[in-house]
Amino acid sequence: MSNHKNGQTLTSLEKLNSGQVRHDWDLAEIEAIYNQPFNDLLFAAQNIHRQHFNPNQVQTSTLLSIKTGACPEDCAYCPQSGHYNTGLSKEQLMAVEEVISKAQQAKKNGATRFCMGAAWRSPREKDLDVVLEMVRQVKDLGLETCVTLGMLTDEQAQKLGEAGLDYYNHNLDTSPEYYQQIITTRTYKNRLDTLQNVRDAGINVCSGGIIGMGEETNDRYGLLQQLANMPEHPQSVPINMLVAVEGTPLGDVEKLDSIEFVRMIATARIMMPQSYVRLSAGREDMNEETQTLCYLAGANSIFYGEKLLTTANPEAEADMLLFKRLGIEPERRELDQQELDQQKLDKETLAEETPKVEEQQPAKPLFYDATKPH
Ligand code: SF4
Repeated sequence: MSNHKNGQTLTSLEKLNSGQVRHDWDLAEIEAIYNQPFNDLLFAAQNIHRQHFNPNQVQTSTLLSIKTGACPEDCAYCPQSGHYNTGLSKEQLMAVEEVISKAQQAKKNGATRFCMGAAWRSPREKDLDVVLEMVRQVKDLGLETCVTLGMLTDEQAQKLGEAGLDYYNHNLDTSPEYYQQIITTRTYKNRLDTLQNVRDAGINVCSGGIIGMGEETNDRYGLLQQLANMPEHPQSVPINMLVAVEGTPLGDVEKLDSIEFVRMIATARIMMPQSYVRLSAGREDMNEETQTLCYLAGANSIFYGEKLLTTANPEAEADMLLFKRLGIEPERRELDQQELDQQKLDKETLAEETPKVEEQQPAKPLFYDATKPH
């Protein structure tokens, strides 16, 4: 499919690369997109990306583990599973006040979304009540909210929706075929059912997977097919590179070729043109050039600051330095009326208090703009 001398093939590839929103992808089509020459793939992905997003903005989320370790599930990649001994220190569900102070910090650092993750098979009712309170209070700070709590019943999803939850994260991890090699304690269907409950509750879906777990490329196509063929594309699609943790069954899996990772990002961008494609776990193992290629391929969301659950996240400062060098701005959150009023008030107060000479100095941009001469 990648031979450009073949006019027929080129036409069908052009169609596949067109960025049409579809829910009927077959594996051969995904394979054709993924395996086309790298430059063509990146060009197509960037082109589509520009039709739907500002190409120089990246959404930033902060992720906090609100309950760590001792999870009854046996996900083969996960240091939080109670099935493996990885030396991870376990922590019970955090108090609401502690979570709120972390959220305030995240907001101060520029995050627009605050994600809270708990290592549960599914939440118990009394724990869910605590999480509902966290969601309400984080929202009151003016941040978008996201939680990942394991499987949800219809009723639990409804309660989260009523509390104002913006996103629910629940990954498919891999293809249905490879799934049994990775998790035995819950089925693929369980996952799809939870995602349906989340959609029914009117909550945005955050769902993606992990590559580099020893899967075949076919399994990568299978994962993308499952995600893109949902009744609605997940609004957020995290693509993780396996972080091989010693003590887990995948502790010594060979590291994935980073070009394969970039291909995965670009294919996700082409197939789900309106979704945020998130560069997720594994970023700390990537050099800046690989991350840059991911942004070029259409990744437009990252975890920023805090730890990415239990795996180290590159320091926030390193992220911002790379953004500066690339002329990327963190995406701004839309302010609600109350915040706009407050901002206006602050400006007026500042204008009254600031001496005239200082008023004339141009405001310092928060980030260096590499697109302008300096
Ligand atoms: S990935 Fe989630 S469900 Fe699986 S073991 Fe880890 S915390 Fe538990």
